[in-house]
Amino acid sequence: MTGIVYKSTGSWYTVKTELGESYECRIKGKFRIKGIKSTNPIAVGDMVDFELETSNNQETGVINKIHDRKNFIVRKSVNLSKQTHVIASNLDLVFLMITINNPPTLTSFIDRFLVTAEAYSIKTILLFNKIDAYDKDTLDEVRYLAHIYREIGYQCIGVSAKTGKNIDKVKALMQDNVSMFAGHSGVGKSTIVNAIEPSLNLKTKEISSQHQQGQHTTTFAEMFDLSFGAQIIDTPGIKGFGVVDMDKEEVGDYFPEIFELKQHCKFNNCIHVKEPKCAVKQALDDGEIAFSRYRSYLQIIEGEEEHYRTDNWD
Ligand code: GDP
Ligand code: ZN
Repeated sequence: MTGIVYKSTGSWYTVKTELGESYECRIKGKFRIKGIKSTNPIAVGDMVDFELETSNNQETGVINKIHDRKNFIVRKSVNLSKQTHVIASNLDLVFLMITINNPPTLTSFIDRFLVTAEAYSIKTILLFNKIDAYDKDTLDEVRYLAHIYREIGYQCIGVSAKTGKNIDKVKALMQDNVSMFAGHSGVGKSTIVNAIEPSLNLKTKEISSQHQQGQHTTTFAEMFDLSFGAQIIDTPGIKGFGVVDMDKEEVGDYFPEIFELKQHCKFNNCIHVKEPKCAVKQALDDGEIAFSRYRSYLQIIEGEEEHYRTDNWD
């Protein structure tokens, strides 16, 4: 039988078949996914094959195959083994929720998130939330940011989880897809999910940082079916996802506007910092690339202190 992993407790996995039947499944023996050194072999969102077995009059499953993942997101372990924990896989889209204030979302955070999403091939849509509460200047800021990100190909929507403004648009995008909501604590992730599906009471809320210490394995992602034909992955306590180690030369590939220009740089190994005849710096001078984006790019390739702070988002 084949199904999708909806929930994982570490040793048991809830797997739902296409017919909507759920089975509690486990894995036998060592189960390794090639190419990924992770603490968990199977993650929420995985498509798996399993065989049924009966013990104590209970029908349970034994997973014997995991299908190739379209993508996955990880959380970096805090320990030194550098092992990663796969939070979820096979995401169709991630909504990055952004607020200008209460709390502020910095462009450096947005850009680092987008770089990671690009590196993992995860489509991201930007939701500017709380537009009901903004004054004119703040709304101008939303428009300015939305303009920057639309120019480089990201869909941006101004929403209000509180008044319901544009929630129908978000629902339409979610239809037939597996999605996830990300963003800082307090941006409105729980509120928007409740506006989308009131009967669902997600735990999207951050657990207190005090609680969080040393308890990384106690928070598990879970997938839910929504009434209008969509799935959502809830990741309690996870604001973003860990960045894989990247080479300096690679970072520009995950900035769409830099990727597009790099073929015009004089040197094909140009990292757009000090090289002469660099098309990216020229575009920056010409105002074709947003300064905030270039600044984020520099921060990432220079591995500034900020890198280490945002690396452990969870
Ligand atoms: P989360 O931490 O991202 O899950 O954020 P919550 O959903 O818990 O929301 C944090 C706070 O922001 C709560 O007090 C919400 O009532 C408030 N909030 C959420 N969405 C909106 C919105 O669209 N407009 C306004 N004015 N407040 C909102
Ligand atoms: Zn260059």
